[in-house]
Amino acid sequence: MSSVKSMSLTTKVLLGMAIGMVVGLLINLTGLNAPGSFINEYIVNGVFLLAGKMFVNALKMLVVPLVMLSLITGVCGIGDIRMLGRVGGKSFVLYMMTTAIAIATAIVIAGASGIGKGMNQDTAAEFSGSESPALTQVLIDIIPSNPIASMANGDMLPVIFFSILLGISMLMVGRKATSIIEGAEVANEVMMKMVNIVMSVAPYAVFALIAKAVSELGIELLTSLAGYVIVLVGALMFHMFVTMMIVLKVFSGLNPGIFLKKMRNVQVFAFSTASSNATIPVSMRTVTERLGVNNSVASFTVPFGATINMDGTAIMQGVATVFIANIYGVELGVVGYLTVILMSVLASVGTAGVPGVGLIMLSMVFAQVGLPVEGIGLVLGVDRLMDMIRTAVNVTGDATVSCIVAKSEGKLNRTVFDDPEAGQLDTTDELHIDEDAGRELADFVEKTQEKTAAKRQETSESVL
Ligand code: ASP
Repeated sequence: MSSVKSMSLTTKVLLGMAIGMVVGLLINLTGLNAPGSFINEYIVNGVFLLAGKMFVNALKMLVVPLVMLSLITGVCGIGDIRMLGRVGGKSFVLYMMTTAIAIATAIVIAGASGIGKGMNQDTAAEFSGSESPALTQVLIDIIPSNPIASMANGDMLPVIFFSILLGISMLMVGRKATSIIEGAEVANEVMMKMVNIVMSVAPYAVFALIAKAVSELGIELLTSLAGYVIVLVGALMFHMFVTMMIVLKVFSGLNPGIFLKKMRNVQVFAFSTASSNATIPVSMRTVTERLGVNNSVASFTVPFGATINMDGTAIMQGVATVFIANIYGVELGVVGYLTVILMSVLASVGTAGVPGVGLIMLSMVFAQVGLPVEGIGLVLGVDRLMDMIRTAVNVTGDATVSCIVAKSEGKLNRTVFDDPEAGQLDTTDELHIDEDAGRELADFVEKTQEKTAAKRQETSESVL
């Protein structure tokens, strides 16, 4: 028992994932999850569903306040305001460039493997694509007509825009704004504590999420689509472990081994939630506290990346395009594939990092190059699992670019990056309330209340 207690949170989360896989597989293979059965009703769609959904909600709950507060403090603490433009420019170019590389690699790998050739298209399930927003609308929507509505909807780009503008305006107000900046700083610290609280239950939640997903996996579908799955997973792994790590090493000189080790937590969160957006709190914590990226860079690059950077999703689009084009016997040619690359990169800018959005982007790409949209029905059955894996790739890309940009701006703390223990979440240490501090705060609140009451008394007496 004590050895479990002394494990790092990452180990516990990995353990939760492994046990979740085993339990999920057991339920799946033994047929215990038959509709109407006790296991299906009360365990898979009862306990697992409840624990998983509550946890994802808890993560989502943190996203908007965390992004806003860290961006405000990030902008106010930036020192040189020109850096903001540089960070924005560099991260945008890197995000687009890596997405284009990702999809190009995917097309080459899938093309060379010849997946889908000779397969029968009759098996295609129904799929009707939904519209992706036009690029002009995406650009217009960056500026929120109602920031509260954007916050309520969790729309990242307008929230980022509004927070940056707020930070810049505070800087313009200058000295008079110090108290509000100080307040934002403290509130940001408080939010980070909230991230720790939510993360402390992650091992159990990850177990529930994975067990549910695996128990519902169509194993026979996986085998019938083995070619597609193997090529896609291979391309995703190649991009994450080879391409991106070369990019990290070349552009920043940082050690990919250390980077990957510290990213395991974030990848498991992304894998189990299938949502880059819901993973923002964990990414932000890891990038700043474990990888040493200064908040002035990470507060922008992480949420920005979660929204516009989707290397894994782009890879899925590349592989699926080749696969379905081969099945339908459509020859796309060089121009067709270049269009696919361009469309995928553009589509990733306009769509948020939430589960399943990759398929919507794919329907947009298909419509553009004249592939039958209903062909997407062919890969639908395995998409949840593929979504989980590609989301892990997406968030790895966000953190890679954050490190590169921070390093180039002199905003990466190398000691933190190199220290294997840095920012390690030890839940017992992090989550305790200091009794003295607690008492001090209680005294403070009491005194403030007394003061307010006295003032109220004074005013009512003077009015009488
Ligand atoms: N789930 C992915 C993400 O959140 C997007 C997708 O590929 O569907 O990054």
